[in-house]
Amino acid sequence: MTNQTLSTWDARADELQIDGRAFIGGSRRDAASGAKRETSSPIDGRPLAVLSACGVEDVDAAVSLARRAFTPWSRTSAESRKGVLLAWAALMETHAEELALLECLDSGKPILQTTTVDVPGTISTLRWYAEAIDKISGEMPAVPSGATAMVTREALGVVAAIVPWNFPLEIAMWKIAPALASGNTMVLKPAEQTSLSILRAAELAAEAGMPEGVLNIITGSGREVGAALAHHMDVDALAFTGSTAVSRTLLEASGQSNLKRLSLEAGGKSSNLVFADTSDLALAAEKAAFGAFYNQGQVCSSNSRILVQRSVHDEFLGLLREAAAAYAPADPLAGLEGNGSLISVGHTNDVEEWIHRGRTEGSVLFGGERLDIRGSDAYLEPTVLGGLAAGHDVHREEIFGPVAVLQPFDTEEEAVAMANDTDYGLAASLWTSDLSRAHRVASELVAGTVSVNTVDALGNSTPFGGFKQSGFGRDLSLQAFDNYTASKTTWIQFG
Ligand code: NAD
Repeated sequence: MTNQTLSTWDARADELQIDGRAFIGGSRRDAASGAKRETSSPIDGRPLAVLSACGVEDVDAAVSLARRAFTPWSRTSAESRKGVLLAWAALMETHAEELALLECLDSGKPILQTTTVDVPGTISTLRWYAEAIDKISGEMPAVPSGATAMVTREALGVVAAIVPWNFPLEIAMWKIAPALASGNTMVLKPAEQTSLSILRAAELAAEAGMPEGVLNIITGSGREVGAALAHHMDVDALAFTGSTAVSRTLLEASGQSNLKRLSLEAGGKSSNLVFADTSDLALAAEKAAFGAFYNQGQVCSSNSRILVQRSVHDEFLGLLREAAAAYAPADPLAGLEGNGSLISVGHTNDVEEWIHRGRTEGSVLFGGERLDIRGSDAYLEPTVLGGLAAGHDVHREEIFGPVAVLQPFDTEEEAVAMANDTDYGLAASLWTSDLSRAHRVASELVAGTVSVNTVDALGNSTPFGGFKQSGFGRDLSLQAFDNYTASKTTWIQFG
């Protein structure tokens, strides 16, 4: 990217006027209490916007407007809903650079990633569900003669979504697109750190013709706004991505309120198994670096545990070190390859603590330094730890930063046992040129997605979600409609 482009993104960032007010009932609103909260960018600490600090009163108002909008929206033909969603996608495309800049400034991701992955990926998911919804039919099961039965999928009503800060637009759209396409209305709470891109996107939805109240974005804290949504008696379903700890509170809230349906994507500790018989060790190392360090390692399915067969361990480590250079932090606005900042200085401190433990209880194989860029120290080198005892926390807990741990193994059985020795079950990868081994190991790994000879495979058409404490319910694919619809049997007895 040229100096011209660099100065352009910087200048555009300086000129941005960002509206941080909530989006309720089709327009921007302050919190009913008038409370506000300033938000700043992790890339350099610059102030970004003043957010509405919403509370319970605002949640009630948003849910009631979403309820009012539900009947007309759910009765609109699937083709008409598709039309509105496609018009929204087109407007997001027109405003793609603005959305990408907001996403970069708010989350610390590099502009090269937000312009080429986050925003195009979000639009692609929206289009995929818009296109899917008028092609789905019900069933007519066989029943005894003298009757006929139809099984249809019905929208649930008002859906709440609570989403995290690591992919603010994309994960929001994983919930919004299938929920709205299938006729529900929604109240979505973004993470406190990253509300700006989805607020602007919701404004574009209104411009594209989405009726008032169908999509509401309510800014505020998890403890107040998130909990109020989880306990609300008029919310029919709740879709969540975030930590396992918060997932537990949501299950309790559902039980204590109206048994609202939950879908939970609660993170993971995913393993990448590299067998000595893999045909291209350099490719395995390149993809392993992507799997561990992409998005500053802040990925729920991050392959942060790399298990390598002992005979190729040292060669692999050298290749991984070379490949990790592509994820060295750089100025996020410079349009360069490389990582951006982590989500905050506080989170960087937490991740650095894991590096400290790795250094004192094992060793740092490479990386480990914290960098100062644009006057902020929320930047970390891609780091690999080693020499840590089996069962160490580093092997089992989610670090959520650019820190992977490398562990040698001898046999296939040992590798599978190590990979499955975690409370999570979101994803796993494996590298081998032996077809039988690929099938055998894939079937033995307890994970929602197993990638063979690649890492972290993901697409609109394939379900994404976990086993064990990674949660339940699936984002993406036609299966996501199961989170937002219930089947209804209509049995007609002939007279
Ligand atoms: P979190 O689970 O605390 O927050 C995720 C969302 O839940 C946010 O919108 C937050 O406001 C909301 N929330 C928080 N407390 C709530 C409550 N009591 N009731 C309802 N909603 C509530 O995650 P975090 O603080 O952003 O990160 C903590 C850890 O969670 C990370 O270090 C990482 O391990 C994990 N995480 C996982 C994912 C993922 O994609 N699975 C994403 C982000 C974080």
